[in-house]
Amino acid sequence: VSSEGPAPLARLVAELGRLPGIGQRTAQRLAFHILRAPDDEAEGLAAAIREVKEKVGLCTRCFNLSEGPLCRICSDPNREQSTICVVEEPADVIPIERTHEYRGLYHVLGGALSPIDGVDADDLKIAELVRRVEQGGVTEVVLATNPTTTGEATALHIAELLRDTVAVTRLASGLPVGADLEHADEVTLGKAFAGRRSMS
Ligand SMILES: [Zn+2]
Repeated sequence: VSSEGPAPLARLVAELGRLPGIGQRTAQRLAFHILRAPDDEAEGLAAAIREVKEKVGLCTRCFNLSEGPLCRICSDPNREQSTICVVEEPADVIPIERTHEYRGLYHVLGGALSPIDGVDADDLKIAELVRRVEQGGVTEVVLATNPTTTGEATALHIAELLRDTVAVTRLASGLPVGADLEHADEVTLGKAFAGRRSMS
């Protein structure tokens, strides 16, 4: 037994410590909590982690999270097929859905343009977006990338590519600059949607 306790416990602490926002002390506290928890509770956590890795993939059309080839939103015939809202990450879809302001489809880029970090257009699902628009039936593309330097650069790049093909709009300002969409409140985000402006 080392200073970190039995090896399996040390391993759990190390794994938990790799999660974002979890420091060493929190990792230790969580590990001891799991150790003391009833078997079925601890098993439930382990099973949920396994299941999310096995069953959740990306939608083949919009690259949102999905349990099958097409996500819940792409397979819903009641969604407006003529509008595509472009976001950086799957996590950004959730707050937009919560506003109930938007009834169209999505396109998840998988990040934002950031030359410093080595992220260029080929690393994002930009070509796939252009292809979706070129297939026809789309009348508006709403750029809902984050109001950050990289998010704005991404929006400008996509607007350049699409402006001759389709109406391109950007969420109204009012979202806190530098913030992630993911953390915007529903009312602010709803207003930003309602007041979206043309980039074409
Ligand atoms: Zn989809």
